[in-house]
Amino acid sequence: MQIDGATSVYGIIGDPVAHSLSPLMQNAAFAAKNIPAVYVAFHVASTGLAAAVAGLRSLGVKGANVTIPHKESVCPFLDAIDSSAELIGAVNTIVNTAGQLVGYNTDGLGLLRSLKADLNVTLNATSEVIILGAGGAARAAVVALAQQGVRSITILNRSEHRAQALVARYSGVFPQVTFRALNFNSGLPNTHGGVAGGGFNDDSTSNCKQLTNFLKKCHLIVNSTSIGLSGESFNVLPWEDVNKKAVVFDMIYAAQPTPLVSAATTAGFFACDGLGMLAAQGEAAFELWTGQCVDGLMRAALEQHVAVMASC
Ligand code: NDP
Repeated sequence: MQIDGATSVYGIIGDPVAHSLSPLMQNAAFAAKNIPAVYVAFHVASTGLAAAVAGLRSLGVKGANVTIPHKESVCPFLDAIDSSAELIGAVNTIVNTAGQLVGYNTDGLGLLRSLKADLNVTLNATSEVIILGAGGAARAAVVALAQQGVRSITILNRSEHRAQALVARYSGVFPQVTFRALNFNSGLPNTHGGVAGGGFNDDSTSNCKQLTNFLKKCHLIVNSTSIGLSGESFNVLPWEDVNKKAVVFDMIYAAQPTPLVSAATTAGFFACDGLGMLAAQGEAAFELWTGQCVDGLMRAALEQHVAVMASC
């Protein structure tokens, strides 16, 4: 691609950001669509965030993704925030229209698209979902799944107060959904309580029973914790208690297979990692910036990259 005076600039701001696969997949999409644009990684420390956002505006950077640790803290610096991103409390995509910066969050849409494409999941008013984790990615998942009108969302988190905070935040917004919070440690019977990421303790029998109950009827388990990011094992779920028809979605994509996908498939469950979600949230951002659909293109670019890396 020729870079000249008419080339538009897009990018991702984060810290760290050099590892990001977004430049790879976004540049593949701009090239495929013959759009004269380049997408780069901007390493922005928290202390420089306000200046970086002002810089997007003054330099006419047309759009940006936002990643860890700025997804929440970027919000006050924007001119407007889309209603779903507002509900999530985090922005992963900024659209710059003539100097007006509007924040969106495409993580939830990415999750829904990947659930459909990779696991053939259709959510409805009978769907019972378990979400592991209560961070930013969990909030995006909760909002997306609740907007689909699922019957229940049970949030399991190591720090139970964070799971409870999500239940308190969203039960009023989505009254048709039954929300529950459990300590991640709490539901795990001792016999299955293998340490994952070093954070799981024993807990009371009543909480074990509660989790067993939810596992027996759940249709979907979503991992939004960072367990597995560094290859740590994920041997904490009592698979024999899980509904045989449940499917497992792991937002982690650092390894093929991820520790959770490996454990789930060994136990006989249909499971996928977060590569499809990564591609789909990127495609949704691209659609916001350009109005053009690139269905499957970013996924193909990522898979090609993963294959090359695996062969090295
Ligand atoms: P946060 O830091 O906001 O949340 C991390 C979550 O993981 C918290 O619930 C935390 O629990 C839990 N956790 C971390 N370490 C452990 C551990 N050792 N044992 C138990 N629980 C643990 O991160 P995000 O929500 O932003 O992201 C979470 C993961 O999702 C990341 O790995 C990220 O890469 C991935 N992700 C993937 C996307 C994709 O497109 N595939 C999109 C967005 C995120 P606690 O509250 O107790 O600290």
